[in-house]
This record gives sequence, C-alpha cells and structure tokens, in this order.
Amino acid sequence: MSAPLDATDVLVVGAGVAGLACARDLLAAGVGVRVVEAGDAVGGRMRSDRIGGFVVDRGFQVFNTAYPQVRRRLDLKGLRLRPFTPGFLVHTPNGRLGFSDPTRRPRTLPELLSGRLAGPRDLAALGLLSARDMLLPPGRLKRRPDTTARTAFADAGFSEAFVERLFRPFVSGVFLEDELETSARVFHMVWRSMLRGTICLPTEGIGAVPQALAAALPRDTVRLETAVASLTGDGALTAAGQEIPARAVVVATGPGSVPTLLPEVALPAYRIVTTYYHVAPRSPLGEPTLLTDTRRRFLNTCVLSDVVSSYAPPGHALVATSVLGRDGQDRERELRAALGEAYGTGTDGWDLLTVRTIEDALPAMAPPHPLTRTTRAAPGRYVCGDHRATGSVQGALASGARAAREVLRDLRR
Ligand SMILES: Cc1cc2nc3c(=O)[nH]c(=O)nc-3n(C[C@H](O)[C@H](O)[C@H](O)COP(=O)(O)OP(=O)(O)OC[C@H]3O[C@@H](n4cnc5c(N)ncnc54)[C@H](O)[C@@H]3O)c2cc1C
Repeated sequence: MSAPLDATDVLVVGAGVAGLACARDLLAAGVGVRVVEAGDAVGGRMRSDRIGGFVVDRGFQVFNTAYPQVRRRLDLKGLRLRPFTPGFLVHTPNGRLGFSDPTRRPRTLPELLSGRLAGPRDLAALGLLSARDMLLPPGRLKRRPDTTARTAFADAGFSEAFVERLFRPFVSGVFLEDELETSARVFHMVWRSMLRGTICLPTEGIGAVPQALAAALPRDTVRLETAVASLTGDGALTAAGQEIPARAVVVATGPGSVPTLLPEVALPAYRIVTTYYHVAPRSPLGEPTLLTDTRRRFLNTCVLSDVVSSYAPPGHALVATSVLGRDGQDRERELRAALGEAYGTGTDGWDLLTVRTIEDALPAMAPPHPLTRTTRAAPGRYVCGDHRATGSVQGALASGARAAREVLRDLRR
C-alpha cells in the first residue's frame, strides 16, 4: 500500500459535471475538497475527442441554455455557443415536415397552420401544453401527479397520429427510449427548457462544459487517472492501493462504480445509445437543425458542421446520427440507406469516421419520477449524479449541488 494522501474534509469521487459542481459548492463554503477521477480528463459522459480535424463528442448531445444550474454556474459567452434552429424537422414517408416555435420564427407560422403537421385540434392542444409548460411556475409542474409521457399526450388531447408524427420520434431522441414510457413530469420540464432556452453546442465540443467547471476550481483540486476501488471507514482506497483519508466521501461516479462503492444504493436501468459520425463532402442539409424519423430507424440526425463549422475541417461536413442500443452487423449499412432517404441524397461518397456506443448514457426515468433525491447514502457517504435526479446536465449539476448542501449540513452538526 502506498503512503496515504493528506487528509481532506471531503473526497469527491468522479469529475463528471455532478462531482465538479459538488466540489465547487463545498470549496465556496470553505471546506477542503479533493476530487479524484479515474479517466485521463474531466467530463465523464460529456467529453469530446479530436479525430483528424473533426470534433467528436462521446455520443451526440446538445446543450440547453435555459437550465437553471447551467445559467448559475457557467459563463455562456465563454463557451462560444452556436445555436440550433428552434424546432426540428421530421422525415415522414410523405416527405419532410418542419416544426418550429412560431413565437421565435414567425415565418414558419404558415407551415404550422397548413395542416401538414397537425390539424386544428392537435395545434390547439400543442399551443395549450406549450403555454402551460413555458409559463407556469416550475413548482406547479413538479407537483402535478406523474404519469408516462404517452398518457400525458393522450390526456392533453393529442391524436395518436400526431403523437406518432411529432412527439414520439422527438422524445425518443431526448430520453433514449421509444415507447414514451418516461415520466411526463420530466418531459414537461424538458419541454419547458426547450421553449425557454436555446439548444446549442460549444464551439470546442460538448466537453468544453465540464472543462469550464473544472477551470473554476483551484489548481490541483482534481487528480486524474486515480480510480477509487473501495470506501474505507475513514475515506477511500484507490485502485493503486493509496489511502485517501476524508471526513466525508461523495460518490459522483455515474452508475458504473456505484454498485462496488455503495452497494446499498439502488440504481435505475440505463439507456444505451450509439452515435455514428459520417463525413460527407458537403452538407446534405445546410441548416443547423435536428432531423427525426417517424419510422424511428434512427433517433435523430444532424449536420454538426452546420451548427458549429469548426466541428469539421474546411471542405467536409460532419453528420451525427444516433440509434437506440448498440452497433451491430449491417446496422451502419441500413442506417446509411435511411439517411440517404431522409436527407434526399446519395451517401456513397460518405465515410464513416467513427462510432460511439455509450452503455450508460441516460437513466430510465419511469413515473412517478422524483426530480431530485437525497444524496445521503450512509453516515459520511453521499452519492450524486444524474441517476439521483434527471438524466441531463441540469439533473447532474443539481444533484451535485444537493450533495454539497447535505454534506455541509452534516459536517456542521
Ligand atoms: C450520448 C448522450 C447524450 C446525452 N444528451 C444529453 C443532452 O442532450 N442534454 C443533456 O442535458 N444531457 C444529455 N446527456 C446526459 C448528460 O451528459 C449526463 O446526465 C451527465 O453528463 C452526467 O454527469 P454525472 O456527473 O452524473 O456522471 P458522469 O458524467 O458519468 O461522471 C462520472 C465520472 O466518474 C468517473 N468515475 C467512475 N468510476 C470512478 C471511480 N471508481 N473512481 C474515480 N472516478 C470514477 C468517470 O470516469 C466519470 O468521469 C447525454 C448523455 C449521453 C451519454
């Protein structure tokens, strides 16, 4: 066993956004904190790689400026965000439909009213649901009895055809499941944030978000390539056999290490997603927007370089397409055929740059889903992350913040 590290008040295990937020709040309260991270960089599920001049996020994801924790903690200007158009496109067997927020893009109103996307009853229901989600205080949304998204859409008066055309393809890409079984409470909070905020990407890739959080911590707070193997009576033991004494330990590891470090903590099931990154000689869309598919052969696709030009070197376009589950034999070939149809272009000239499968991408959020849960796992032991809240940057940050509050309360007792 190597010599123990200096004792610290609180050890945070894991430098994803939850662990980084927790560390920040504890440090701000004057508590000594060390963060240890198994990986070679901070960020966890929010990391970006550079491959031959392309920016490749570890699974396609977007950044929402309306999330309260995001607004509180991040300098949005510093992230040099580039927006998606407010809305998305839907590929249907009868052609492409556009759905846009008409309050932000009034010129899309005629298309919305044309009846191609929705008849009058569905449009009225959509207007009412959106107005409620956008304007009601979040407390009211949170207190409503919870049900599945599917039931909520039926209760809101949407026709099944409209749900299949608009909500199901879109929501599948957000929650990484296509049965609409996710909590309606979570759906309403996400819809609210989409209506109130802007969906965008940082110029340097999604990994810029945790990097900005880490940059706000004093130097040497985070120790990389240090995996914790077990918790001890007074701290933790690393995989290299080093003791780290601490008065409290916060396990912010994501689902992977929770069963080993805190077997008493129950985890939800996790959704698996695979993102294919194709390089095309030119953009097949020419618009920074998401494209979904009513046949659900993919969750969504987008030309990343139409959103952030520096995601691809000049003369190339980078297309990210996500599907449920893992890669498999013939999957990319079948996907390419679907993409050719959806974009209305040949894909023979496209190259597959890389494929990213994320095993533990998002927690399943079945109703009734509490938007936040205590982080206290045992005396002196805490657990935070998106599995204690909602599967989003907002949920992970809020859970980290809650862990810090609960640790502080207990340390000061
Ligand atoms: C493909 C994909 C798409 C997504 N899309 C969106 C989106 O569009 N919008 C949105 O808001 N959210 C999205 N999310 C969700 C969001 O990325 C996560 O909710 C959030 O990043 C989770 O952060 P976390 O800190 O809870 O966990 P993690 O990011 O998993 O961080 C845990 C950290 O702990 C480290 N660790 C694990 N075990 C140990 C150990 N034993 N010792 C030390 N360190 C350890 C890991 O290396 C990791 O760095 C998406 C996620 C994925 C994967």
